[in-house]
Amino acid sequence: MSNTATKKRRSNFALLNREVIKPGYCTSCGGCEAVCPVFVISIDQLVPKLIGGCISCGACVDVCLRYKQRVEQAAVEEESLGEIIELYKGRSKLEDIKDNSQNGGVVTTLLLTAMRKEKIDGALVTTHISDLLGPVPMLALNELDIRKASKSKYTLNPVLIKLPAIKLSHKEKVACVGLPCHTETLSNAIEMKNLGADFRVDYKIGLFCMSSYNPSTFRNIISQNLGLDAESLYKTDCARGKFFFVGPDGTTDIKIKECSEAKAEGCKYCLDFSAEFADISVGNVGVGDDSNIILIRTEAGKALFDFALKENVLDVEKVEKDKWEESLAAAKKLSTIKKKGAKSLPPIESPK
Ligand SMILES: Cc1cc2nc3c(=O)[nH]c(=O)nc-3n(C[C@H](O)[C@H](O)[C@H](O)COP(=O)(O)OP(=O)(O)OC[C@H]3O[C@@H](n4cnc5c(N)ncnc54)[C@H](O)[C@@H]3O)c2cc1C
Ligand code: SF4
Ligand code: SF4
Ligand code: SF4
Repeated sequence: MSNTATKKRRSNFALLNREVIKPGYCTSCGGCEAVCPVFVISIDQLVPKLIGGCISCGACVDVCLRYKQRVEQAAVEEESLGEIIELYKGRSKLEDIKDNSQNGGVVTTLLLTAMRKEKIDGALVTTHISDLLGPVPMLALNELDIRKASKSKYTLNPVLIKLPAIKLSHKEKVACVGLPCHTETLSNAIEMKNLGADFRVDYKIGLFCMSSYNPSTFRNIISQNLGLDAESLYKTDCARGKFFFVGPDGTTDIKIKECSEAKAEGCKYCLDFSAEFADISVGNVGVGDDSNIILIRTEAGKALFDFALKENVLDVEKVEKDKWEESLAAAKKLSTIKKKGAKSLPPIESPK
């Protein structure tokens, strides 16, 4: 396309639809719905839809990580896990959290402690209502809602649709927990100057992520192959090439490969394993099922983590720099596999 033609192209929902949503690059992060100043985007069945008159402000295009990825075509550093200033391994000291969380319960403990001591007054989290394969984003305003949101949901989740709830509830100190795609779009939203996008989130907590899955296809796969009803599950886990499902009859597993039909299309273009845009990234690869590996990336992340250390709620060891290579080897391996294996997105010229 010529430069003149590019300049004439309008930055609006039609552009986002044509260049991101229709071709299947969308990650269902929810960012576009959140930033639309006239509320005409609605994520319906995990797909952003236009439900009213678009005023061509361009906010949904500016916030979208996949649109940016297509425009910028940034060089991929295959070995990189992003900026890290401190590294920890360990778990929560709070017994009830350890027993009811995904791994070491560090994420829930950070949120809970910060809420209890009024370091935050809200947390964007992902809870569930019917089953763990149906994530439900929410702005948690109390400790109980933070606790209920623990454990991983391995299915697509538009958590960012709840960003406007922060403004509506007049919360001033907020943390957001999300996958790498959520934390990247959230970073875009925080930096944007568009109308309606004046969001403030104090702490971005990112989770490691290899992939996410389509909820209905995933439920069908486990029902047909394992005879499992998703509603009966207490916990789902993903490790060593398998998914594990814990329910009233014990633990059942299935190879991740056998679930490939449910892998979300938008995840096939994903270049971020370790949530490189977060203030703190948390995963468990390389440290055992009941522990976390914690990457402190920014001063904000360090402030939140140091606060929890001071409150004596974490049983963690600091990894000295000369041991980083060894401690991060497993994470680096997965990150490299992800970056190398990602499908490339065709370039696109920005309309601006
Ligand atoms: C889709 C997905 C894929 C993952 N893949 C890997 C991986 O390959 N390797 C690895 O080491 N770790 C992976 N993780 C991270 C891991 O499962 C744990 O979330 C992490 O170790 C934190 O454990 P925790 O005990 O501190 O979490 P908890 O204390 O139990 O807290 C979990 C938090 O995760 C949030 N959450 C749950 N599901 C979602 C979701 N779908 N989207 C956004 N937020 C959510 C909740 O709001 C909650 O606050 C993945 C997580 C998810 C959700
Ligand atoms: S990736 Fe996120 S911001 Fe982009 S279209 Fe999809 S939901 Fe909207
Ligand atoms: S954010 Fe702006 S460009 Fe996008 S749908 Fe809403 S009004 Fe249209
Ligand atoms: S693989 Fe990437 S796009 Fe998919 S859910 Fe994880 S972070 Fe988001």
